[in-house]
This record gives sequence, C-alpha cells and structure tokens, in this order.
Amino acid sequence: MTFDSLQLSAPLLKALAEEGYTQPTPIQEQAIPIILQGRDVLGCAQTGTGKTAAFALPILQRLDQGLNAPKKRVIKGLIVTPTRELAIQIDDSFKAYGRYVNVRHTVIFGGVGQQPQVDALKRGVDVLVATPGRLLDLMSQGYISLKDIELFVLDEADRMLDMGFIHDVKRLIAVLPAKRQSLFFSATMPPSIVKLAGTILTKPLQVTVTPVSSTVETIDQMLIYVEKIDKGALLIDLIERNKLDSVLVFTRTKHGADKVSKALSKRKIRSEAIHGNKSQNARQRALTQFKNRQIQVLVATDIAARGIDVDSLACVVNYEIPNVPETYVHRIGRTGRAGAAGKAFSFCETTEKPYIKDIEKLIGRKIPVGSSSLFSQPQH
Ligand code: AMP
Repeated sequence: MTFDSLQLSAPLLKALAEEGYTQPTPIQEQAIPIILQGRDVLGCAQTGTGKTAAFALPILQRLDQGLNAPKKRVIKGLIVTPTRELAIQIDDSFKAYGRYVNVRHTVIFGGVGQQPQVDALKRGVDVLVATPGRLLDLMSQGYISLKDIELFVLDEADRMLDMGFIHDVKRLIAVLPAKRQSLFFSATMPPSIVKLAGTILTKPLQVTVTPVSSTVETIDQMLIYVEKIDKGALLIDLIERNKLDSVLVFTRTKHGADKVSKALSKRKIRSEAIHGNKSQNARQRALTQFKNRQIQVLVATDIAARGIDVDSLACVVNYEIPNVPETYVHRIGRTGRAGAAGKAFSFCETTEKPYIKDIEKLIGRKIPVGSSSLFSQPQH
C-alpha cells in the first residue's frame, strides 16, 4: 500500500516523500479514506502509531480544496489535545505535511504568555491546535470563535479525562456547530470514553490499531542507572563491547547530539548528529550514510528523528530519558521493526528517575534494570 492509493493530493504526497515516509501506517491506511469521505471516526490508537498524520493529512486536503481565495481566514479545523507537548507535535506535523498547501495553522497552550498566540490568531488561521484550558480562556476573551468549525478532532480522549478536562471538553462541544465532522481518538475505550464519544460523533466508523504496548513488548529493553558524567563512557563501552552497528542514539537537545557525536568520533566510531540546526541536505546525507552503513551511529533529537525508518536497526539508545512518556515509545519503536528483535538501552541519571515512572505507567510494565558494565567487577 502506498500513499498514492489513498487519494491524497500531489502537494501532500510531495511533502510526505520529503519526510521520508514510504508507506502509510495501519491507522493511516484505515482512517484517511474515511475522513476524506467526510465520515466521523472513532479511532482506538495510541501515540506512536502515526495517528497524527492519519488525521492531519485528510484535514489539510479537505481544507485546502475548500479554500478558494477566502476573504478572511476563519478557524475551520480544531484539534484539541491534553498536553502542551502533544499540541506542539501536532502543530509541527501540520507544518511538515502542509508545507505545499495553502492552509494556515497555529498552536495555543497554557503556561506561556498569550500575546504571541493572540497575534498569530489575529493574522488568521484555518487550523487551530489547542489544549483545552487556553482555548476556553482565549474564547472567553473573544479572540477565538468556533462557529465556523467544519472539522473537530479530540485527541487522546482518555488522557484528557484522566487529567480532569471533562468539563472543559463538554463546554467546548456545546459551542461547536452541530454540522461538522468529528474525529475522536483514544488509546483505550472504557465505558466513560465510549459515552463521551457518543455525545460527539454521528454515525462514526470505528478504526482500531494494535496498541503500542504490544509493539513495545517485542523489544528487548534495558534500563541502566548511571551518573550523567559517565554516560559518554558507557555509550562507547556498550557499542564496542557488543560490536553494535546501526545504533540510533537519542538526546534531548541539539547541543547534546553534537557533543555525543564528537565524543564517538574521537574514539573512531563513525557517527553523525542530526537535529533542527542542520540543513535538510545535511540531515538527508547523514541518514543515507546511516542507511548504507557508512556510519555506525546516528545521534538524533526527537524532532530530527521523525520519519527515520531504517531496516534492521540493531539498537536504540536513550542517552537522555524523554520527559514525555510517548516519546520513549516512539524512540524505541525504531528498532525491532517487522518482527526483528530489537534492543533499547536507556541511560538514566538521578534527575531522570521520575520520567521512568511515567514511561512504565504508559507501557504497563517495568523496564528491566541492567548493570552498567563499566562499573561491574571483572569476572574471574
Ligand atoms: P504519531 O503516532 O502521530 O505521534 O507518529 C509517530 C511517529 O511516526 C512520528 O514521529 C511520525 O513522524 C512518524 N510517522 C507517521 N507516519 C509515518 C509513516 N507513514 N512512515 C514513517 N513514519 C511515520
């Protein structure tokens, strides 16, 4: 199955090719045609399954086609998601997939000053990605009207309820136009969620994909507690001792990615860093070298690693533990593809321990703890 056969427009296909996506994920395969037909969707899918593109692509296509030289842009697509991180990721996806279509989007979330967000809204947007609190806040101040909404997405509905947003969600639904298309996504479908979905959707088609946790189960995961200062030595030791090739190393920051890559190069381990400060060309070149096995280690930030799909990746290393638990699942999902056994090592320093708790909650299991070979006594 290719993206072409999903009836996506040429500008979207071009953007997808540039993202390095070659084929749709199961949720995309199932949901995109239904959304393009204008039907409501009840999607049972977690982050990491490609669900963002599953709704962003058809939304971009529908809005792009409906936008014949509008006089003034009004918000026609609304995506509500529980956390600031998810909101930013979704907005980034609209940016990436929508780079060749004439659809303007912006993102709003709490915890930061509202003025830049208000300014962006005043310039006019077609798609708004929002967390519930800030959305209601700006609505009550008169900066946002939902009366022209044609497409509404409620993302991560179960988490939304867990986080206590039920009343906010109900207030939102109450002001949405009755005639609209709604897409509802949740990782789990307990009765409370099914009931909420019933109040939002009209004759929905249900789309379900295998939960990420079962994908994660095929990956051999190990957690290693290590002081921050020793992480570099541990990485080198891990690679050399296990003769690992094709290792994808994740860092949280661009600077961190460069630092790790430099340290590896000093040890004659061929590596490159990819992150947002590198040109698209440089990133593509590094990726090609990695795919061709010309370099052994690719050090990447999460954003830069999007769309990386390398066959038989031996191992993923979380040099730093992500503070968003879903990111862990994204990262380690890069290994062990298509039934091949994959390995994922996570280097955890003291301050990162709380993140591990969140991750274990999300994946529903404890990550086995391994000892760092650096500090283990030689065997006699
Ligand atoms: P999501 O579940 O939407 O958070 O997406 C998970 C990750 O998969 C993101 O990093 C996307 O960039 C990536 N992704 C989504 N769709 C595809 C695809 N068809 N091919 C390769 N990567 C994809």
